[in-house]
Amino acid sequence: MPVNALYRDDFYLSTCEAVVTAIHDDGGIEFDQTCFYATSGGQPGDTGFVERADGSKIALGQTKHGQAKDIIIHVPLDGEVQPHVGEKLVLHVDWPRRYRLMRMHTACHLLSVVCPLPITGAAVGEEESRVDFDMAETIDKDEVTARMMELVNANHPVYLQWITDEELLANPDIVKSKNVRPPLGLGRVSLVCIGENSAVDSQPCGGTHVSETQEVGSIYISKIEKKGKENRRFRIRFGTPGDEA
Ligand SMILES: [Zn+2]
Repeated sequence: MPVNALYRDDFYLSTCEAVVTAIHDDGGIEFDQTCFYATSGGQPGDTGFVERADGSKIALGQTKHGQAKDIIIHVPLDGEVQPHVGEKLVLHVDWPRRYRLMRMHTACHLLSVVCPLPITGAAVGEEESRVDFDMAETIDKDEVTARMMELVNANHPVYLQWITDEELLANPDIVKSKNVRPPLGLGRVSLVCIGENSAVDSQPCGGTHVSETQEVGSIYISKIEKKGKENRRFRIRFGTPGDEA
């Protein structure tokens, strides 16, 4: 059943009421609405718990899409009791974890501004994220860190602009970075815009982001690895250079 994905309109929504609409054979739960982000576009899905009317909790270890993008399945940890279809519950996202992922995900966008090259892969993590670029030249990681931190400290606004699938397909130039496959198929596409009037960047993305670049906090490039002749893997970590040592 298509879900009302509340996080799409409010990245800061950490809790919401919901009614169970389906239970899958593997225990996965569908709700009428959710604030849980499902694994997609390199960002891991949310974890957390649901609270039943009697106050007991069911821990959720994973959130994923079903066969269609508008299906979101919340997977309980092994051994948890099952709610029943029609039951009304309160969903709680593990917010500290999600907020780190939002900061990291936004940091990946900032890296793509500093290195405006085609992205060949990306994975957002709580401690470390990686972004792979189609890139042959060598670049100094401390210089990349300095330029990313300039964007963080400038405290640019980060916001969404919604356009229809048709608008995006008809106006491919609306997208500054063409290296990420747009999240088409839901009828509308969110462009993640950074800076007033998208002055810094705008690109289609279905993930969750912070609303001001300053929220990203201290980040640095810990490593740039050569992965083949024309591929460079950048690793982003929270903190300042030298923290790993
Ligand atoms: Zn994004």
